[in-house]
Amino acid sequence: MPQNQPASTAANDPASQVAELVRKAKRTVVFTGAGMSAESGIPTFRGGDDSLWSAFNPMGLATEAAFREDPALVWGWYVWRMAKVQAAQPNAGHHAIAWMLQHLPGIELVTQNVDDLHERAGSDPVTHLHGSLFAHRCLACARPHLDFEIPQDALDQPQLRLQPPRCQHCGECIRPGVVWFHELLPEQTWQQAEQAMRRADLVLSVGTSGVVEPAASLVRLARTSRAQVVEINPAASGQSEFVDVAWRQTAALALPELVARLQADGGRT
Ligand code: NAD
Ligand code: ZN
Repeated sequence: MPQNQPASTAANDPASQVAELVRKAKRTVVFTGAGMSAESGIPTFRGGDDSLWSAFNPMGLATEAAFREDPALVWGWYVWRMAKVQAAQPNAGHHAIAWMLQHLPGIELVTQNVDDLHERAGSDPVTHLHGSLFAHRCLACARPHLDFEIPQDALDQPQLRLQPPRCQHCGECIRPGVVWFHELLPEQTWQQAEQAMRRADLVLSVGTSGVVEPAASLVRLARTSRAQVVEINPAASGQSEFVDVAWRQTAALALPELVARLQADGGRT
């Protein structure tokens, strides 16, 4: 925001208001959820008629118990999701975040997403709280298994049944490399994310419903530490009541607008 612009204009203009916060902040955490990738065609879990949990039962698909009960059902569903992500492209919001990481000091990216669209837009490093759709490992010995090829016809088949590959070392099933319900988040990743939130003075929370714990607690931690919180989400979320700025816009529209504002103003001063 130009220095001589009245504050009331900033309040009506979230892009300027948020650009000002980004310029002032020494440490910013961009925290993303499934809504970040919605405009790339990847369904969210909650919110909207095409969200995953409106069509599928999470407890029947995203738990270790479900996988042990029916590995072909669960592996097939994840292979469908892998195929969807592989066929998708990063959207303008992913590119805007990559620009911020590359051009502004003190910005970190923490995501709940298991897709690789942040990386493909050029963000590095990316802290993945919930693992990756593409980092499979053995259910028993946890050795990585990376040479799985997604079948070409998986894209249109959410109900695909497919036997998971077997571990070359112990013969047990290979499982998706994501964090399922009832599982702990990877310890080191969690520590990194907690540290980032504790030292942040600004959090940009994008496309998350703010109800999945413990991930959602990270934004509360930042808020109670000292950070200001900006939410970018077209709908109200579980964290809306305590955020400082609620920017009711989609990720692929808001974030490029923010970057344009930062570029026009010559970046951080
Ligand atoms: P969620 O599905 O619970 O909530 C999605 C949120 O995004 C909602 O608040 C919705 O209003 C908002 N949203 C929808 N479209 C948007 C857009 N275009 N721009 C900005 N916001 C938009 O997602 P969550 O909070 O990330 O839930 C957590 C779990 O969902 C995580 O565990 C994550 O691993 C998983 N998940 C990941 C992916 C992915 O990797 N792309 C996809 C589905 C679910
Ligand atoms: Zn094994």
